[in-house]
Amino acid sequence: MRLILLGPPGAGKGTQAARLEKKFGIRQLSTGDMLRAAVAAGSPIGVKAKAVMERGELVSDDIVIGIISDRIDEPDVANGYILDGFPRTVAQAQALDALLVKKGSKLDRVIEIAVDDGALVERIAGRYSCKKCGAGYHDLHQKPKVEGVCDSCGSEDFLRRADDNAETVKSRLEAYHAQTAPLVVYYSGKELLHSVDGMADIDKVTEEIVGELKAIGA
Ligand code: AMP
Repeated sequence: MRLILLGPPGAGKGTQAARLEKKFGIRQLSTGDMLRAAVAAGSPIGVKAKAVMERGELVSDDIVIGIISDRIDEPDVANGYILDGFPRTVAQAQALDALLVKKGSKLDRVIEIAVDDGALVERIAGRYSCKKCGAGYHDLHQKPKVEGVCDSCGSEDFLRRADDNAETVKSRLEAYHAQTAPLVVYYSGKELLHSVDGMADIDKVTEEIVGELKAIGA
């Protein structure tokens, strides 16, 4: 199964992708995570992406298309994947279509997680993740069972993203509306789009997405 999770920053794409990964045994591919790893490693791509990400703008289409093109050829995603944060522009979506045609595969569903802008700033400002395993948490909505200890791996080291601050969030939301929101129309025109209410609680959103995926044979 090949899926895209579409939605603004803070909609819950990463949280839902991690749950779907466990439930269906397919990998979450987050271009944001891959770019952050490149920045941390100081690779040539990371050097190019760092300042752009800090400003809350989009990294060039060429860079992210190249990353995804290589990644979806790897054997661990032969049975499918969940794209989280890609595509983010119509040019990226068209490039993905062309890549999939070349590889003889296709998308099964695009799930839009729709959330009001007003809720996003608070959601983003409160989020953090485990430094060791990447599990995501939130100050208000998703606390670890034992304070200060990761539920998944027991680590006590957490981190907050450098771009999760009020000023950068504003640019990221602007980038979403200007460059990514047109993908709702793009995928709706291809009859691939299913929208879920991302304002509902986390479990309910998962339930809705799982229901939709089962309905298409997952
Ligand atoms: P995310 O973790 O998805 O919120 O992405 C964090 C940042 O990485 C974004 O604000 C962009 O600067 C960059 N980024 C991630 N995915 C893409 C993409 N598909 N196209 C362009 N830039 C991206």
